[in-house]
Amino acid sequence: MECVFCKIIAGELPSRKVYEDEKILAFHDINPVAPVHFLVVPKRHTKSLNYISDNDDVDHICYALRKIPEIAALLNVDDSGYRVIINVGEDGGQTVEHLHYHVIGGKKLGWGK
Ligand code: 5GP
Ligand code: ZN
Repeated sequence: MECVFCKIIAGELPSRKVYEDEKILAFHDINPVAPVHFLVVPKRHTKSLNYISDNDDVDHICYALRKIPEIAALLNVDDSGYRVIINVGEDGGQTVEHLHYHVIGGKKLGWGK
């Protein structure tokens, strides 16, 4: 298994866990761009948004999205607000080829380039 997020999900690499259930794992980004920056990762491996192949993929990805407000509340950014990002491919800045949501907050965010 070469995928770093699959290794984190399997417990083969450490992470600072925020939330876990049978379908998703959320953990703090190792290189945060804001005071709060965590990743919500469907446990089912999908390479990117471009590679969703079937309804099980869709189910896990929609489930992960639906859970974000609850996980944001654990870190007290639900009321203040936050940003959810999916990077896709090279121009999109995707560096880990396992589809994931970035959740960023804890300060007033500017709009990116
Ligand atoms: P991408 O660039 O693919 O959208 O996002 C990948 C994110 O994963 C980056 O923000 C990067 O800092 C984070 N990341 C990469 N490797 C690790 C790791 O081993 N542990 C944690 N916690 N985050 C990681
Ligand atoms: Zn993976």
